[in-house]
Amino acid sequence: GKKKLSDIEIAQNTVMEKITETASRVGIREDELELYGAYKAKLSESLLSRLKKKKDGKLILVTSINPTPAGEGKSTVTAGLGQALNRIGKSAVIAMREPSLGPVMGLKGGAAGGGYSQVLPMEEINLHFTGDLHAITAANNALSAFIDNHIHQGNELGLDPGRIVWKRALDINDRSLRNVVTGLGGPANGHTREDQFSITAASEIMAILCLAEDMADLKKRLSAITVGYTYEKKPVTVEELGYQGSLALLLKDAMKPNLVQTIEHTPALVHGGPFANIAHGCNSLAATKAALKLGDYTVTEAGFGADLGAEKFLNIKCTTGGLVPSAVVIVATIRALKMHGGAGLDDLGKPDASALLSGCSNLQKHIETIRAFGLPYAVAINRFSSDSEEEIQVLKEWCAENSHPCALAEVWEKGGEGGEELARLTAELAEKPSAFTPLYKPEDPVKKKIETIAAAVYGAAGTIFTSKALKQIKEIEANGWGELPVCMAKTQYSLSDDPARRGRPEDFTITIRELKPSTGAGFIVALTGEVMTMPGLPKKPAALNMDIDEAGRAKGLF
Ligand code: ADP
Repeated sequence: GKKKLSDIEIAQNTVMEKITETASRVGIREDELELYGAYKAKLSESLLSRLKKKKDGKLILVTSINPTPAGEGKSTVTAGLGQALNRIGKSAVIAMREPSLGPVMGLKGGAAGGGYSQVLPMEEINLHFTGDLHAITAANNALSAFIDNHIHQGNELGLDPGRIVWKRALDINDRSLRNVVTGLGGPANGHTREDQFSITAASEIMAILCLAEDMADLKKRLSAITVGYTYEKKPVTVEELGYQGSLALLLKDAMKPNLVQTIEHTPALVHGGPFANIAHGCNSLAATKAALKLGDYTVTEAGFGADLGAEKFLNIKCTTGGLVPSAVVIVATIRALKMHGGAGLDDLGKPDASALLSGCSNLQKHIETIRAFGLPYAVAINRFSSDSEEEIQVLKEWCAENSHPCALAEVWEKGGEGGEELARLTAELAEKPSAFTPLYKPEDPVKKKIETIAAAVYGAAGTIFTSKALKQIKEIEANGWGELPVCMAKTQYSLSDDPARRGRPEDFTITIRELKPSTGAGFIVALTGEVMTMPGLPKKPAALNMDIDEAGRAKGLF
């Protein structure tokens, strides 16, 4: 039956409707769309300004336990829950991130959901889509060129070439570009300096695009980027260089949210894609705000576990954009919980109630985090066909004993039909007025913000700051950036900063090694552990499975 098909086969067997039809069901006229072929469109300026007058629907966030190699399925549940809400007669719109080519070609394969809960056309969404990531890469590297040219042309602002913090970017995993030397070949070929590359999904331009309200706000944020420091250690901004206009122009189309459809034709805005471990991990504010106007329910996702994506969604994105979420869905799988409870990847096929129950400690911590934000939650058990009935029963009983609302989600196998129970539960939770409260206040000192996240979200016994980090915090506060929220860079695999510690680690400390002000995006990045902003490729990249046939049909994108 159905189960044997791969994600891409299911996607290719689906007959899509024209995107104008999907749009019309949420009241969007054809002339309010900028069509990219028959199945993709950008929302026009005129639509976005018309929508401003409409009332907001309810916002539902999908997050998960810490990821394991066993798979969690947040995007799948996000798409499936949106479809299910529509099936039970609610009007729901999905807001998701657009995939980065790094993980697509490297480790993960597609990132457009899975099974019968996918956004389409998955091949295009996973590859170049509407070109947003390329535009972001271009704007990022244009700024690098402007900086080097400024130095080459006499360096009027006195930028110290050794203190340039703006990095180049590429949307491919390429470890060889982590540290590079540019400007070789003598004075005619630029000033020789050390530079670095980040993956586009980790770049500040990506974060800016995702947090900007509109074009005016985009320009304001681009102007405020700190590109480096003078010999006197005074910050130099894009505004001083004068390039905010050109950068905004390069991002003109990328700023507009992309509309696509799911397998069941639920409208989905797929826009912006910062990683959640080294960036803030959620789709654009523009897309979420548009979705809130278009549907009674917006289902959105934040990357990795609730310790990363959800924390930043709630503390950074919601506070920046004035969003008030109504409920949170926490995705867990039997397989991943068993891994958190000590089972090995090769043993996941065997029923193991004791590993499952012990792994629930990880789920429990994330539930406590969501409660700390004052939000109602539901546990979604994302069912894999290998899960035994008994194990599902064990998890359901654990939820019942601990009074955690929970529902089985069979959206991967059955689409929206498999998520109706979760949809009813979520809609019910979202009924109550939201008691959402961020974990810290803007005026809290930077150190306190970090300590609050480490204690309340990670469960750390303490936070250690290196002397470098302490010095940087002083500089950040002296430069007047102390009121910005903090964007934690931490491994996704553990609540701690050690990727090997699964489950719910206790008695650990978090080490803050370095801080990086992203004054354009409007947050301070705090780096823990060995998190890198340019990933490498694995021994056998996912790209090895990819192909295209004579008829132009993509293969192997999962
Ligand atoms: P996340 O958003 O948490 O990274 P995804 O939703 O992208 O996870 O899913 C990752 C992969 O796991 C996809 O290839 C998807 O098809 C697969 N997957 C998700 N849920 C299931 C499930 N219930 N059964 C089988 N495969 C699944």
